[in-house]
Amino acid sequence: MKPFVADVHMHSLLSGHAFGTIRELAAEAAQRGLKLIGVTEHAPGVPGTVDPIYFRNICDAPRLLSGVEMLYGSEVNILNGGELTLDQRHLNCLDYAIAGIHGTCYEDAGIVGNTDNVIRCMENPKVKFISHPDSDANPLDYPALVAGAKANGVALEVNNSSLRKQWSRPGCVANYRRMVPLCMEMGVPLIVNTDAHDPGAVGDFTLARQLLEELGVSDEMILNTDLEKLKDFLLKNK
Ligand SMILES: [Zn+2]
Ligand SMILES: [Zn+2]
Repeated sequence: MKPFVADVHMHSLLSGHAFGTIRELAAEAAQRGLKLIGVTEHAPGVPGTVDPIYFRNICDAPRLLSGVEMLYGSEVNILNGGELTLDQRHLNCLDYAIAGIHGTCYEDAGIVGNTDNVIRCMENPKVKFISHPDSDANPLDYPALVAGAKANGVALEVNNSSLRKQWSRPGCVANYRRMVPLCMEMGVPLIVNTDAHDPGAVGDFTLARQLLEELGVSDEMILNTDLEKLKDFLLKNK
């Protein structure tokens, strides 16, 4: 499998429970040979994260650090009812949005309800992929999820942090073993990210790579094996 050239889901100090600055994230990315990173602070709903005014000021954020191209997005919470925790005005300030379920602002709705809520969020034009769709804490109907991703032009993430901290995402390995072959069957792109909360984890895709190689995933299926393909997917209207 080709090397991954970008990592587009990570958090800086601004998310309130992470440990590095954007400059430290970029420096580590440069050391690991990445061409691009995306910093994706949590949206409201995760305690201690940035006030939405941060997202309105992304226009002032540096676009190149340590020789690494910088994008700025947000990991926005999926709420019960299929709503997102950031309004469209702020979503429009982002390079791209990730939608994901977090227990700080979500009550498990069962497999059908969870899947419906995720698919409703995929419909937002700014949402380009779903973070860590992998936990038994909020089970998902994988055939329906992958079909929803296909219909909405959304990618599904394989999250290296889930694999590294499996106690926080119970069942994630078995769930990826279900989800990934369905993506291959239906032609839904995968994106591999570290979800680093410390600069030391940026660009370390070891566990995700092992799993994907074992499942026989081709390079073409993975967005971040090709910089232009990735930028096209994240930055162009779907
Ligand atoms: Zn998350
Ligand atoms: Zn995250």
